[in-house]
Amino acid sequence: MARQGWEDSEFPIVCETCLGPNPYVRMTKQKHGKECKICGRPFTIFQWCPGAGMRNKKTECCQTCAKVKNVCQTCVLDLEFGLPTQVRDTVLQTRDDVPRSNVNREFFVASVEGQLGNDSLINYAKADSTAREQLKRISRVEPYYKRNRPHICSFYVKGECKRGDECPYRHELPIDNDLSNQNIKDRYHGKNDPVAQRILNRTDRSRTLNTPEDKSITSLFLTGIEKDISEQDLRDFFYGFGEIKSINVVQKSKVAFINYATRAAAELAVSKTFNNLNIKGRTIRVQWGKARPQGPRSDLQAGIDGSGSSSYAAPMGGPPAPPSIDDLINMPPPPPPPGQGSFSYPSQDPTALGTVGGREFRA
Ligand SMILES: [Zn+2]
Ligand SMILES: [Zn+2]
Ligand SMILES: [Zn+2]
Repeated sequence: MARQGWEDSEFPIVCETCLGPNPYVRMTKQKHGKECKICGRPFTIFQWCPGAGMRNKKTECCQTCAKVKNVCQTCVLDLEFGLPTQVRDTVLQTRDDVPRSNVNREFFVASVEGQLGNDSLINYAKADSTAREQLKRISRVEPYYKRNRPHICSFYVKGECKRGDECPYRHELPIDNDLSNQNIKDRYHGKNDPVAQRILNRTDRSRTLNTPEDKSITSLFLTGIEKDISEQDLRDFFYGFGEIKSINVVQKSKVAFINYATRAAAELAVSKTFNNLNIKGRTIRVQWGKARPQGPRSDLQAGIDGSGSSSYAAPMGGPPAPPSIDDLINMPPPPPPPGQGSFSYPSQDPTALGTVGGREFRA
């Protein structure tokens, strides 16, 4: 009776990487061998070796938990994209519906079990195509078999391993903090996952690279153009990607626009230089420019009058933060972003908390 609902599967739900390059890998199976690390119910453990010289792998959570989040039973990464659930769910804007408290979770898992079949609660098809594109971009294309290597020998790290070549663990000093260091429950629920955070930080930056859908946009926006970088320097460099229509350097704001004759040239230039451009020892940030403002901008004139600045809202000291860059490239030159051009510090922002008669101060 109590065993009803316990899985009795022939093959685990695992990702390509965890399985290893040989699809005919031999598995050992232990029915109801251990408690699922997520829901705590007994489940069938599979064990296998994912290739010569690799460490043995085993399933860590039950199939229902894996299906609920569409993750690998071993590494708990998303099955479709190989990404941490935190990354996937942030991009897809899915909530974590699985209760964290033990009793509620057990009830939840048991109640969805019957409905799931071979499906998952994660519905990729429902997500909008940009989100899916983004996931595709940041995911690995190939399985990452290196992840299956033996763990690092802790004795070797301390300089105390005497087993030499016989040692089954890796004799290397740790450089990257591996997935194995993280709490599997947190990763499953998509919380406190440092790897996910790293990926999200990276994609945050690269989101600004998002190729504009408006194909008439053929210009690049550059920041970090110091005085010693001339228009000719830029021309010499960017000429290599295709015919340049014009170059505008705004020395005062340390920015420049490279306007290409064709979209293809602009795309090539962005792809080759994004996060990777150095001229005369200066790091230059490259992003897409916008040819014209999006939507109506009735506040343009107010912006010009109010700010007294005749140019872009220049990045202040060093590389500007991504949001201000976004503001910059969304704005047609020359006015500053509306509502932001007229004050420089948070305390000058009339909409900020605590500035209106002190009423907004929290106790
Ligand atoms: Zn489970
Ligand atoms: Zn896996
Ligand atoms: Zn060792």
